[in-house]
Amino acid sequence: MLEKVLIANRGEIALRILRACKELDIKTVAVHSKVDVALKHVKLADEAICIGPNPSPQSYLNVPALISAMEITGAQAVHPGYGFLAENADFAEQVENSGFVFVGPTAEVIRVMGDKVAAIKAMKAAGVPTVPGSDGPLSDDPAQLRATAQRIGYPVIIKAAAGGGGRGMRVVENEQSLVNAVNITKTEAAAAFGDGTVYMEKFLQNPRHVEVQVLSDGQGNAIHLGDRDCSLQRRHQKVIEEAPAPGIPEEARQAVFESCVNACIQINYRGAGTFEFLYEDGNYYFIEMNTRVQVEHPVSEMITGVDIVKEQLLIASGRPLSFKQENIIFRGHSFECRINAEDPVTFMPQPGTINAYHAPGGNGVRVDSHIYNGYRVPPNYDSLIGKIITYGRDRNSALSRMRNALDEMMIDGIKTNIDLHADLVRDPEFKKGGVNIHYLEKKLGL
Ligand code: ADP
Repeated sequence: MLEKVLIANRGEIALRILRACKELDIKTVAVHSKVDVALKHVKLADEAICIGPNPSPQSYLNVPALISAMEITGAQAVHPGYGFLAENADFAEQVENSGFVFVGPTAEVIRVMGDKVAAIKAMKAAGVPTVPGSDGPLSDDPAQLRATAQRIGYPVIIKAAAGGGGRGMRVVENEQSLVNAVNITKTEAAAAFGDGTVYMEKFLQNPRHVEVQVLSDGQGNAIHLGDRDCSLQRRHQKVIEEAPAPGIPEEARQAVFESCVNACIQINYRGAGTFEFLYEDGNYYFIEMNTRVQVEHPVSEMITGVDIVKEQLLIASGRPLSFKQENIIFRGHSFECRINAEDPVTFMPQPGTINAYHAPGGNGVRVDSHIYNGYRVPPNYDSLIGKIITYGRDRNSALSRMRNALDEMMIDGIKTNIDLHADLVRDPEFKKGGVNIHYLEKKLGL
């Protein structure tokens, strides 16, 4: 079993990892930027080290500082959380080359999944349903481009192989704009990601975002923890997530679960991971795999009783999975609302001091948050300040608990998106379940 883990992250996920470590009697090392000395997990960790000034490139993305912190504290492993270095293959490689354990897959697997063309190829080979597309990088030959688009059928989307965070994509409606769009996307991708490789996919008009959570030990055992629906998004940022994804025929779900588990075994995946799909008209289309724990992992925990972060730590300790698929019992429904420090109208981040904070509670209510009375939200990082997660024996009861929890939560001193959530959980279409990825932006008039 790992004895000491360094948490290379901040905010709610750092606290989440710290709690899992404590449960497993693993000693913790918190690393933080100057301003983040005030973070809750920093105060609760066994050891804490300041690794640099506030800008993330000098602190949370500072690989030499992180490796030195591991050396100084004698930590055996690093948990990267999400964001920052979580999907950076070079970091994982450096960690392992320095003799430490990276809590996550091998650098090689991260690298394959970080290249969307390679990822799609690997998934297709493993039997995961993908979007009809170019099945590889696009050539420069206009005639070939036109033939590919014709075969797929318009509208198509041109995507950067190295893209991420919703950037490096362009929708093409017809043949006239095709060649130009491909060239612009290539140039942009080269400038933004240092890799101008682009590929083509069918553009799905009104899909839902449905993803599958997996755990795999890299020793031949893999399981799934069901699906999540994360269709409520603004600018490709998820706002509310739920598990299970409502209203999907059981046969289609089980088939996609099975394909994800098989893919894990085929690529010898190690750790927690998520297969992201677009879902339209009864079909699943793989878009990418996230090789890390996700913000919305708690909703899957609520309906399965599995602690995903603890499992990550156990897998990193070299243990085989603690569960077989038949031991996973899906029960009830769960929602998560992401609470952001942001202006509810302009969505601009709202750093500042929290003068008063009251967390909601009650049966089936979980709050994952690092904030406290007097905590100052710094301007340097993501605006996520916490997550409310509710559980209920069915979708309606989980949703009414969320409504109550949002009404109870009080954060004074900074603006937050609590009122937006309070409105969304009362939205008739959302209450029905199964809205598509454009629903929120349309509702907001964007
Ligand atoms: P990123 O890694 O940048 O997040 P993804 O491949 O996950 O890129 O796509 C991000 C979002 O772009 C998706 O959630 C979806 O909204 C949209 N998108 C991507 N591919 C397609 C497609 N083939 N059809 C329709 N929308 C798409």
